Amino acid sequence: MFDTLEPSSLPPEDEALRSRVRALAAAATAARPADVRARSWQGFDADFSRKLGAAGLLGLTLPKAYGGGERGPFARFVVVEELLSAGAPVAAHWIADRQSAPLILNYGTEAQRQFYLPRICRGELFFCIGMSEPGSGSDLASVRTRAERTAGGWRVNGQKIWTTGAMHCDYMIALLRTSGSAEDRHAGLSQLIIDLKAPGITIRPIVDLTGDAHFCEIFFEDVDLPADALIGAEGEGWKQVTAELAFERSGPERIYSSVVLLDAWARHLQHIGRDDPAVRALVGDFTARLATLRAMSIACTARLAAGESPVVEASLVKDLGTAFEQHLPVAIGDDLAAHPDEPVSDELYRTLTYVTHVAPSFSLRGGTREILRGIIARGMGLR
Ligand SMILES: Cc1cc2nc3c(=O)[nH]c(=O)nc-3n(C[C@H](O)[C@H](O)[C@H](O)COP(=O)(O)OP(=O)(O)OC[C@H]3O[C@@H](n4cnc5c(N)ncnc54)[C@H](O)[C@@H]3O)c2cc1C
Repeated sequence: MFDTLEPSSLPPEDEALRSRVRALAAAATAARPADVRARSWQGFDADFSRKLGAAGLLGLTLPKAYGGGERGPFARFVVVEELLSAGAPVAAHWIADRQSAPLILNYGTEAQRQFYLPRICRGELFFCIGMSEPGSGSDLASVRTRAERTAGGWRVNGQKIWTTGAMHCDYMIALLRTSGSAEDRHAGLSQLIIDLKAPGITIRPIVDLTGDAHFCEIFFEDVDLPADALIGAEGEGWKQVTAELAFERSGPERIYSSVVLLDAWARHLQHIGRDDPAVRALVGDFTARLATLRAMSIACTARLAAGESPVVEASLVKDLGTAFEQHLPVAIGDDLAAHPDEPVSDELYRTLTYVTHVAPSFSLRGGTREILRGIIARGMGLR
């Protein structure tokens, strides 16, 4: 089954982007301690995103006609890998760059492309994803929030939840029921672009286990949207969302969530001068797993670059990747606990605490472990 995941390497012209991204990321993170850098996914820094845009590092896969870089997925791989390795704040542009822009390019009208895409490429417009609802997470087809046709457009009523970054974002791309009932499952779902400043929208941040508030619940009460809020075809929302999730699951995003902690721990070992066979074996284990996952992620990127949609392979990388990301804080915590006389800096301790607390979310966000394993099993012909 997975003989389609052939080893590949990053083309030299895309590798060449690395030093430019690294310099920008280093400048943005120089004054941030490791526990702040470990919040890379949650770090909302509009200025930094605009700097990336000005450097031509956003919208890399979009056509030049819309302000993009007209490069392939490998170029984006290099940029994402560098930003996450440094713990740079990616939250502002993250979702628009990865998901909303390709969605608008593929399904949007020409007017929508011309309006949104250049602004996304400049780091001026920020998007969130309105898929989950109370009772509709894994079972996304059961979405209940409705958009009814009105004389001038659409009227939305209902609720979304776990919407990352909604309190800072300009727009949500929402999966809504435009016809039929929740029992109709895949039929009758559509995607609409919602201006989050529209009257009738209430956004409430939710505090997570770490004490941060980065996702929200959102209430829609008679929210009126113009006719051109619809993106793609009415009733095709399910198909569009499935394609969108393939972008979300296939990148280096699913490998590097704990890497700032790994780095901080490695620096600690150097500082303390601990270099015994056990710690060498542990460092070797982490390195081998990270290198293998990276190779698999690059192989997935090669399939995307070839114009394919490696849904099953991307699910495999996400499942193995998040298992690795969750293993790191446990193994590093165990290692430090096994050396109780060793002084641990406050910064390393805070970083370990943060990553330990946030790690359970790694195998939830973007599709839960059980759902991904179901996709993998189906892809292997096991169910
Ligand atoms: C940090 C974070 C950020 C998020 N950001 C967003 C966002 O921006 N936008 C958005 O729309 N959503 C977002 N989500 C929501 C996320 O996509 C959902 O949490 C996820 O899809 C799971 O849905 P649920 O929480 O309703 O859990 P449920 O679907 O109720 O699942 C609960 C448990 O049951 C298991 N389960 C469910 N169905 C099956 C099945 N058929 N077979 C086996 N096991 C099953 C699940 O795997 C899970 O372990 C975010 C979540 C997190 C943690």
